[in-house]
Amino acid sequence: MLLHEGQLDRKNLFLIGVGADSGRGPLPASAYDALLGKAPEIIDGGMPRFVAVEEIDAWPAEKRAAFWNAQFDKCLRCYACRQACPLCYCQECMAEQLDPAWQSIAIDTDEKGFFHLMRAFHLAGRCTGCKACVDACPAGIPLGLINQKVAKVVEALFGGYDTGLDPGKPLPFTTFRKDEVLPGCGHE
Ligand code: SF4
Ligand code: SF4
Repeated sequence: MLLHEGQLDRKNLFLIGVGADSGRGPLPASAYDALLGKAPEIIDGGMPRFVAVEEIDAWPAEKRAAFWNAQFDKCLRCYACRQACPLCYCQECMAEQLDPAWQSIAIDTDEKGFFHLMRAFHLAGRCTGCKACVDACPAGIPLGLINQKVAKVVEALFGGYDTGLDPGKPLPFTTFRKDEVLPGCGHE
């Protein structure tokens, strides 16, 4: 994704594939400069990606709100999730910007929820599901569920877009097409 967003130059990188167990949907062997151990395989083709999210989607709104408020309540606003995220590379995070100030530094549940939703939207179509944020969180908040929910919506709205797995596809939120119409946006 960093290559796709123009943050890195491929000629300055040496990419090492570390095998089929290294994570969701590894790229084909040809994407790497070197391989360690077994060649990566596409291991998730056809597998359901959003099982946990679909389970939560089926809950009544009150139950979902209670679940997420309980999760956000645990958040320390330590920003370890943001610091660990390879796609969070803004020079100044909106959550800490002072002029203009978009968000208070309070750690009440609403402010913490705002931080997480703002971050999730910022990562829409960009989060690769690497789970570095989940591993970094000292409070054990299931951040992967938020990321997966957004990925599910992006996949549905942008023709099956699966972040990071097809560098040839246009980026959903930074590609402008005059003829583009999103279903349900009210401008059909
Ligand atoms: S799972 Fe997504 S949000 Fe979390 S660290 Fe990886 S890219 Fe960032
Ligand atoms: S790492 Fe966990 S506790 Fe810290 S800000 Fe992120 S979600 Fe909150």
